[in-house]
Amino acid sequence: MLVNTSHPGNIGATARAMKNMGLKNLCLVAPQQYPSAEATARASGADDVLAGAQCCATLDEAVADAVLVIGASARSRSLSVPVLDPRSCAALVQRQADPSRVAIIFGRERTGLTNEELDRCHQLVQIPANPEYSSLNIAAAVQIIAYELRVAAQNDLNPSAPETDYASAQQLEQFYAHLEQTLIALEFLDPESPRHLMRRLRRLFGRARPDQKEINILRGILTAIGKKFR
Ligand code: SAH
Repeated sequence: MLVNTSHPGNIGATARAMKNMGLKNLCLVAPQQYPSAEATARASGADDVLAGAQCCATLDEAVADAVLVIGASARSRSLSVPVLDPRSCAALVQRQADPSRVAIIFGRERTGLTNEELDRCHQLVQIPANPEYSSLNIAAAVQIIAYELRVAAQNDLNPSAPETDYASAQQLEQFYAHLEQTLIALEFLDPESPRHLMRRLRRLFGRARPDQKEINILRGILTAIGKKFR
């Protein structure tokens, strides 16, 4: 998934990088210029991947069905989720029961991903580049990560991935909204001074990766608390 990409050439180059590695599900979140002749030209023989790209207005819409969201970032953030290198990222994706429900998101050319976008990520992937010049061109970053995904898939490290029915990103967002609303009602969370509470809780639940039953239990607890406050 490419978020809010400015240069259509980068979108085309990404489609090409993906097709070279046998990937096809490209998703464009609020691209700044698309469709574009430049994108098509840079896609070269990968115009099928480009033509098949899904366009979404928001990141939440794009990741709604994903059970694992990985953000590609050139920088480490202070209050951040675990950071993987591309090889461990590929191994993690390979261990998923359904790798098509993994979203790997790439940020804007100039500013990368916002904190709110990073909040949607269970993990980050960082290409260990020159610390003095660590930001790759976006399609080059996609190429490296897609290459590792291909190598991991070919080595088929774990052919029998466990079938856990993890909560989707959309279910997690609904849970976080419910949790926040409950914590405000409990006066545990002051909306005037939220600090990093929700971000820390997202990190906790993101690490735990609740499944369907667990997320239903958590929602049930919040509903029970809500009834006491009526
Ligand atoms: N100045 C921006 C760089 C954006 S580069 C920043 O510091 O965040 C555009 C996108 O390419 C990034 O958002 C990221 O998704 C990807 N990218 C570039 N270099 C990367 C690296 N070293 N590791 C992982 N992703 C990288």
